[in-house]
Amino acid sequence: MAVPKRRTSKTKKNLRRTHLKLEVPGMNTCDNCGEMKLAHHVCKSCGHYKGKDVVGE
Ligand SMILES: [Zn+2]
Repeated sequence: MAVPKRRTSKTKKNLRRTHLKLEVPGMNTCDNCGEMKLAHHVCKSCGHYKGKDVVGE
């Protein structure tokens, strides 16, 4: 196996990975129940979207 003449520095490695995040982007908290929910999606726990109940029980 080939050995690289110059290893990638910690700074270079970290800079390359700055856009790699642990969390999934586009997460919000629900205005109605405060649970974590996906942005632009209906809340899974209470069924609210944009301040009103869109699921209806
Ligand atoms: Zn909710």
